[in-house]
Amino acid sequence: MTSYIFAPAEQASVAVRGTTARYAVTRIFCVGRNYAAHALEMGGNPEREPPFYFSKPASALVPTGATVPYPPGTKNYHYEMELVIAIGAPVFKVTPEVARAAAWGYAAGLDMTRRDLQAEAKAAGRPWDTAKGFEQSAVITELVRASDLGPMNAGAITLAVNGVEKQRGDLADMIWSVPEIISNLSQFYHLQPGDLIYTGTPEGVGAVKPGDVITGRVEGLAELSLTIAAAE
Ligand code: MN
Repeated sequence: MTSYIFAPAEQASVAVRGTTARYAVTRIFCVGRNYAAHALEMGGNPEREPPFYFSKPASALVPTGATVPYPPGTKNYHYEMELVIAIGAPVFKVTPEVARAAAWGYAAGLDMTRRDLQAEAKAAGRPWDTAKGFEQSAVITELVRASDLGPMNAGAITLAVNGVEKQRGDLADMIWSVPEIISNLSQFYHLQPGDLIYTGTPEGVGAVKPGDVITGRVEGLAELSLTIAAAE
């Protein structure tokens, strides 16, 4: 048996509807821009350019219902409501037709973002890690098995802050569909169970402050909520 100098961190995982067994998470991939109207509000190109990715550490996962402190180092802490894919089979360099079967389950998620740090990084051509991969930045609901859902190629995706709607989109407006994202990402990685993919957010992103309550929903999935507390 391996011994460690310090105790290993707890395995990151996500609840699954209808079972006490949890989905163990190894990696979190995120699609950068996947709705044309959001690409425009970010000053980008809404055309169908190849998708691009960034990642968050699995330790950044936070379950729905949590209260998180306002994060350090930012004055512009943003929500991004997203559909999350959970991979359930090994896939590498597969077509969208093959990729479709690798989507084992889905959750609703928040890709929390330090927007001011992202803007600085973009301007300087630097990495996005401090803007995107920070602690408690990947909020997620329970997973629902794909076999209990439709193909997740349409359906409302919405977010409200303190009960006021801020984001409303439709999965049908994703520039790259679920099978296309998995296929494309599999050109670069050996995807496998334990990989989550946050699929991008519709327009209407904005800032939150201490005391705010975010609620969000993707049709067919559990409601998501997150409460923002004072900075530590
Ligand atoms: Mn995002």
